[in-house]
Amino acid sequence: MSVREIVPFRRETPSKSEKGNDYGKHKPDLEEDFNYCCGYCGAFDGFGYTKTYFEIDHFVPKDFLIKSNSSIGFCKYSNLVYSCRFCNNNKNKHWPSESEDFFILDDKGYIDPCDPEYDNNLYRTEDGAIMWNTELGKWMATTAFKFDQRLEEIKLLWKYNKTRINIEKIIDELNDYLEGTDEYEEIKKELTPLFEKHYFLQRELATFYNG
Ligand SMILES: [Zn+2]
Repeated sequence: MSVREIVPFRRETPSKSEKGNDYGKHKPDLEEDFNYCCGYCGAFDGFGYTKTYFEIDHFVPKDFLIKSNSSIGFCKYSNLVYSCRFCNNNKNKHWPSESEDFFILDDKGYIDPCDPEYDNNLYRTEDGAIMWNTELGKWMATTAFKFDQRLEEIKLLWKYNKTRINIEKIIDELNDYLEGTDEYEEIKKELTPLFEKHYFLQRELATFYNG
């Protein structure tokens, strides 16, 4: 399975200008293009009450962009990633080279989360853990993003996001039927166990974050 429920895709032309330094203006576009999930670990950003807040990561880190000879500006949309705080912080500590042009050196480094290659190096197990197929994938998962240290949280977030998506699918389906018809009532019954699951997962996540 893919690490992300939906593989993110950046729009060709962002709504806001790619000039200047205020890259925060791209957040609404990024939220949509990344389906409100971290590009790297797939965590859903729907928890206002938790400590998992979301940021904008520069794929080629800001340190390189500060140099006047960099060809990448702070607001270049193709260099921006919607990212949870954990992935953003961990990534910036581990750039593999001294150059903005080398993302990968000797099986260490990063693949852009919008590149289909991302899912050739990392994958999701049935229970929601993130594992690797390659040495580069192992480096990203363990040395850089430290997914292994967040294993329980990552599994819970995955289950929560899947349940949420299933609920939304059924609600969409219900819109095709008239309320009160047999079909409508039949489909509606599928929601009850999902709501229950959603509620308990949310409680588990709250305990997880708030100790
Ligand atoms: Zn993340």
